[in-house]
Amino acid sequence: MIKKIIAPVQAWILLQGKCVGCGRNLSLGRRIEKQDNSQKVICTCGRIFIFDKRKGKYHRATFAEG
Ligand SMILES: [Zn+2]
Repeated sequence: MIKKIIAPVQAWILLQGKCVGCGRNLSLGRRIEKQDNSQKVICTCGRIFIFDKRKGKYHRATFAEG
């Protein structure tokens, strides 16, 4: 029930380029270039996201990506 509400909110926050955990702008995070035309972004709070350069979008890193 709660997840159904949180997931769209988190997706919306990520669309704004912000961390879903602390709300900081992800442009402030540490970026690591990846092979597949994406960047691993580590927020100052420690959460890890993947920035897809082709789509221009962030998503939460999966276990494998982190
Ligand atoms: Zn954060």
